[in-house]
Amino acid sequence: MAKPHKSETATPSRKRRAKTSAPDAAESGRTAAFLRSEPASRESSPPARAASGPPATQPPSAPFGAIVSRRAADRLRSGHLWVYASDVVTVTLPNPEETLIPVADQRGISLGAALYSPASQIALRLVSRQTLDHAAWLKLLAARLRAAIARRKPMLDAANDACRLCFSEADELPGLIVDKYGEIAVVQRLTKGLLHAGASEACVRVLCEELAPAAIFERPDPRIRELEGLPPPSPDPLWLADPARPAAATEFHLNGLVFHYDANAGQKTGAFLDQRANYAAARDWAQRLGRANPGSRGRALDVCCYQGGFALHLAQVCRQVTGIDSSRASLEVAERNLQANRASLTAEVDWIEADAFEILRDWSQAGETFDAIVLDPPAFAKTKRAVESALRGYKELNLRALKMLGPGGLLITCSCSHHVSWADLEAAVAAAAADASRRVRLLERRGAAPDHPVVLNLPETEYLKCLVLEVE
Ligand code: SAH
Repeated sequence: MAKPHKSETATPSRKRRAKTSAPDAAESGRTAAFLRSEPASRESSPPARAASGPPATQPPSAPFGAIVSRRAADRLRSGHLWVYASDVVTVTLPNPEETLIPVADQRGISLGAALYSPASQIALRLVSRQTLDHAAWLKLLAARLRAAIARRKPMLDAANDACRLCFSEADELPGLIVDKYGEIAVVQRLTKGLLHAGASEACVRVLCEELAPAAIFERPDPRIRELEGLPPPSPDPLWLADPARPAAATEFHLNGLVFHYDANAGQKTGAFLDQRANYAAARDWAQRLGRANPGSRGRALDVCCYQGGFALHLAQVCRQVTGIDSSRASLEVAERNLQANRASLTAEVDWIEADAFEILRDWSQAGETFDAIVLDPPAFAKTKRAVESALRGYKELNLRALKMLGPGGLLITCSCSHHVSWADLEAAVAAAAADASRRVRLLERRGAAPDHPVVLNLPETEYLKCLVLEVE
């Protein structure tokens, strides 16, 4: 038996939570490729190479800084910011803890200044095309964070008071993530070069000046911290407006809906803000197609629903919505989010704790039907090598979904693996459509919300893909 979190309607066989059958499906968070610190990461894809161990450290007589290979120099000159460990020819540090170092090519021509991560396979992250001292770097950090926030402010209003304020390399601040959830700001520092007190003081100062938050928390990303060889951050808040009110929980709004936030719980920094615009698109397409096909309207399924982002948006226009996730803790928050919005939603909504592969297989075999299905699984391909098995996972989920969608049905299918290209994802869905003997028409190709920008010279900044399809 599955474990519904709300009174169930007559739905097909409920499945108890089971082991995931898809590759890497247990990994549930997602982050853009460029935050990963090794080529074998879920979404990053360095050139083929076999890095092993940190680069050689030169005797103190060599000039201070890093010398990088021609390939790395070309890459930096073409606008990229990363140097992989295997492309570092030598590193000379004035002291073992130094993390801001000049970078030059093998002819000695300067390429700028970079943050050095000795334990990471992304050994250098360029922060400036000029060499810099610490004071200048901290000034630059503050100025860039201020600029990143200024770019987001036009995207914020009462109906949308949560967004990614700073997105690492995409905002020229490698390793720094800052998210806003209503009155709380959450910081992640994911490279060694950001761990000193000066960097967190600069972040706190800018955030207080620009946003006056009630609290600023630091959240670890344990996997990246481990890859980078970094200690866990302190659980104490970085800053509190009122020390007598150390509230880690609050509410935030996306497209006018209310969501619960707890700085000490959940995946990623708390929510999947990158899907904000896709939530609204899912709702709008479900409404449009529902109008076009009034005979078959109103039953929606949100697969891998987490805390109910897509499900609650669909509940604005559908008659009945089911959310499925393997994480009970996520579904408990989804139910809480449903209750917070209950007054404005008429749909019947239920949550089912289950493995997506198992339940979709059972339901599609049982002849279950829906009018709209969202598939938003975790990144199946953590490495380039994992793409093939990831694509089998995507194909399987899409096949099952297509079998359950009626004519005029809406399929919204997402991948958050950088390694899975648009062409890969579309081929997997096309193969599923062929196997299901269905024709699908592409209504839209969508990416992450604009507060998670893609920088064209940094292909790793693109990871989230969302196809909106109409099934014939
Ligand atoms: N759609 C969500 C984000 C999904 S993230 C949103 O917009 O907020 C991926 C989710 O898949 C996570 O909540 C994770 O718990 C869940 N998950 C991972 N593997 C799963 C599986 N095999 N079956 C069902 N859910 C799974």
